[in-house]
Amino acid sequence: MANNFDVLNRYLFEDLHARGELVQLDQSFKQIIQNHQYPDAVTSLLGELLAATCLLTATLKFEGEISVQLQGDGPVQYMVINGNHLQQMRGIANVTGNVSGNSLTELLGKANMVITISPKNGERYQGVVALEGETLAQCLEHYFMSSEQLDTKIWLFSDTKKMQSGGSLLQVVPDSDDKEQQLADFDHIAQLTNTIKADEVFELAANELLYRLYHEQRVMMFDPQPVSFVCGCSEDKCLTAIANIGREGIEQHLAEQGEIAITCDFCKTQYIFDNNKLQPLLNPN
Ligand SMILES: [Zn+2]
Repeated sequence: MANNFDVLNRYLFEDLHARGELVQLDQSFKQIIQNHQYPDAVTSLLGELLAATCLLTATLKFEGEISVQLQGDGPVQYMVINGNHLQQMRGIANVTGNVSGNSLTELLGKANMVITISPKNGERYQGVVALEGETLAQCLEHYFMSSEQLDTKIWLFSDTKKMQSGGSLLQVVPDSDDKEQQLADFDHIAQLTNTIKADEVFELAANELLYRLYHEQRVMMFDPQPVSFVCGCSEDKCLTAIANIGREGIEQHLAEQGEIAITCDFCKTQYIFDNNKLQPLLNPN
């Protein structure tokens, strides 16, 4: 079923004040973790964070970039997924201590979730939510409630053996004055969605899964959006970073090491610059 994966689906319940999203991830998740040796508990949370970022990104109504970061004082110092409106994602976890459990607190200690949204045109927005001994899904639900005043339910799944992750989001559509009806609709769909199982997320095609959950509802699906791993690192970006050291610094580094090597934290690609490759910086004319 992996062929149908790495896709985000958005849908509307036509007769109810509710909308939903479903994301199922395979290759994009594998590519994020493949060159890292994370403990299973870290891989699992990173998979949830990837699914969560895809769901969150799909709720944005503009072009731009998003970063969802968990930072704390536990063995995992931070964990971040960066993405954009094209659902191009990359991510990393920084593990500095011994991981001995898989709860948020055991992994991150006292921690915050920092969501940074940078629209192409417009002001950067940052929201911070404390991670207090709950699941990542619950923390995100709090974020939506506090930042957008929208009732939201989120389900996240991650499997370190299959190396797949996924999730679903359900949100009230506040398109009438009948707040009571909106919440009743939302609660009804939330109860149906609560029966969702990890195996279904990892094995069923999106339309089969939605049929299984909501076959009594009229569900209108929008065009699916592909999700991909895109690191975005490049030789040019490395050169820009090296230029910041200044000519003297570059020459000193070359004299000591013979080359300048930069490894991308995200995808672990190594870029090597010898004297020849650095000539544009050393002799710009
Ligand atoms: Zn990279």
